[in-house]
Amino acid sequence: MAAKIISGKEVAASIREELKERVAALKKKGITPGLGVILVGEDPASVSYVTAKAKGAEEVGIFEETVHLPAESSEEEILKTVDRLNRDPRFHGVLVQLPLPKWVNTEKVINYISPEKDVDGFHPINLGKLLRGEPCPLPCTPYGVQQMLVRSGYSPEGKHVVICGRSNIVGKPLAALLMQKKPGANATVTICHTGTPDLKKFTLQAEILVAAMGAPKAITADMVPEGCVVIDVGVNRVPDPNSPKGFKLVGDCDFEAIKEKAAAITPVPGGVGPMTVTMLLMNTIEAAERMAL
Ligand code: NAP
Repeated sequence: MAAKIISGKEVAASIREELKERVAALKKKGITPGLGVILVGEDPASVSYVTAKAKGAEEVGIFEETVHLPAESSEEEILKTVDRLNRDPRFHGVLVQLPLPKWVNTEKVINYISPEKDVDGFHPINLGKLLRGEPCPLPCTPYGVQQMLVRSGYSPEGKHVVICGRSNIVGKPLAALLMQKKPGANATVTICHTGTPDLKKFTLQAEILVAAMGAPKAITADMVPEGCVVIDVGVNRVPDPNSPKGFKLVGDCDFEAIKEKAAAITPVPGGVGPMTVTMLLMNTIEAAERMAL
């Protein structure tokens, strides 16, 4: 039987309806949640991500301002901008769009964001809290994956989740989130990476398989067990002469073949991507709610 297609767009749309109500409740108290975004340079993917964040913010009623710095900006200029947004009471959330120019120390910039305003959840204080199971802003992509699973009826509770990828923004925090002794988590988690010999041996043991590798179609149908739930985080540009842009977006999974075997699968685009932006909006609203207490 063909897999159920888990639409991130649909799950995200229903969460956004909830967020509009939370924004309305804040506005009644005279508080408009605010998100400050710092974009450095003109990288097309970064520009499109920032545009999606601004559109999402507008849709749910968040005040959003993007500070667009020139591509040649120095680390000091970026840090000064972070400092300005940290101090600006209009912003409950501050984020710096990655990647930054190669001469900039990304860790230093992330560490400079006020942990209370760190709506990406990348600050080491927040990652430490996540590991300890304390309340904190959750990194948006892992949070989106978890919410998509729970809200589509595929709770990770008690399941074996195999995550391919151990980055600081997806794989590692997703593992930390799903292994928590909490409702909507409580999974048994295996993490795979390029040092994993025989990746297939592990993916075939998954009840939920998450691909976050940045490797187009690296997960093939023979690596996926029957009835598995597959979450494809990967977003890869591959050449496509039939597209006016000259490229198309594909995930890390061979979607067409896997959908004949899996119980459920997320598409690319329209899967994890819309969830990531929505969880950023959720984190911004949560920050505003916390600051209003
Ligand atoms: P990353 O920092 O490049 O990390 C990739 C991870 O995958 C690394 O841990 C790497 O292992 C592992 N890996 C790569 N190829 C592998 C292979 N053939 N076998 C086993 N492991 C392999 O990437 P990322 O930032 O986590 O992003 C991953 C993908 O998700 C990208 O396509 C990115 O564009 C996408 N993404 C999407 C969203 C969204 O909202 N949809 C958000 C974030 C990222 P090593 O550690 O050993 O190198």
